[in-house]
Amino acid sequence: ASGIAGKVVVVTGAASGIGRAAVRLFADEGASVVAVDVDADALARSITDAPPGVLPVAADVSREDDVDEYMTRAVRRFGRIDGHFLNAGIFGSFAELPDVTLEEFRHVFDVNVGGQFLGMRAAFRQFALQEGAGAIVLTASIASLAGSSDLLAYHASKHATVGLVRAGSVYGGPLGIRVNAVAPGIVPTRLFIADADARGGANDMESRAATTPLRRAGAPREIATVAAFLLADDSSYVTGQVLSADGGASAV
Ligand code: NAD
Repeated sequence: ASGIAGKVVVVTGAASGIGRAAVRLFADEGASVVAVDVDADALARSITDAPPGVLPVAADVSREDDVDEYMTRAVRRFGRIDGHFLNAGIFGSFAELPDVTLEEFRHVFDVNVGGQFLGMRAAFRQFALQEGAGAIVLTASIASLAGSSDLLAYHASKHATVGLVRAGSVYGGPLGIRVNAVAPGIVPTRLFIADADARGGANDMESRAATTPLRRAGAPREIATVAAFLLADDSSYVTGQVLSADGGASAV
């Protein structure tokens, strides 16, 4: 089979940006989707015009109980899961290295790395109960490949995402479970617009995008399509990989 039609996929960070585009794309392609986000209001708003077959669940990915709860609800509703898109993430505040607080550093790691760890573990446990194959996709970043002077915790956390992918793929391979990541570049979402504002406005974002080989920012859907490929059987021989969808930014 190709595509993700008929699969049950859990998406985190589903209320906005890339996650929201993924919910829409996966559902349009015939998947059943569990849409998870900490922002319950935004989640409810975001799925009003989504196709049927989308189950919204308000949960904080950094909380163990919440992650167990969304997985339980997914299985109660759809009977199993086939894929998990671990996409929720935050930038944290902008600060130069000497001013980064331990509290801030831990918070970014709790959400970005802790959330992906908990979601990956929950998916592995569920796949074991099903005694079947499955696919996990994490959202990495162009920040997984380089640093920046004012988002230290974010860049470090996205490097950790790559570690989760590699370690997860080694454990999962013999079980038929694939673990990969999509690494977006500049995509104008809520998160990235906050970033652009902090750094000098939308013009800055556009000018940065204009220096990439494709000379433009990406659309959330152009990241979601890559996640769909990595969740689908089309990528059945791909595991442990980070696939950039960044307009060529990481090739320069
Ligand atoms: P976004 O802010 O539009 O969406 C992120 C969503 O995650 C929001 O709806 C938010 O409520 C949710 N979220 C935040 N903390 C959560 C938590 N603890 N539990 C559950 N949900 C939570 O941003 P986006 O750009 O769509 O980001 C999605 C992913 O893409 C993130 O992992 C981000 O790091 C990554 N990314 C984005 C870009 C970009 O340019 N936009 C580039 C590289 C990587």
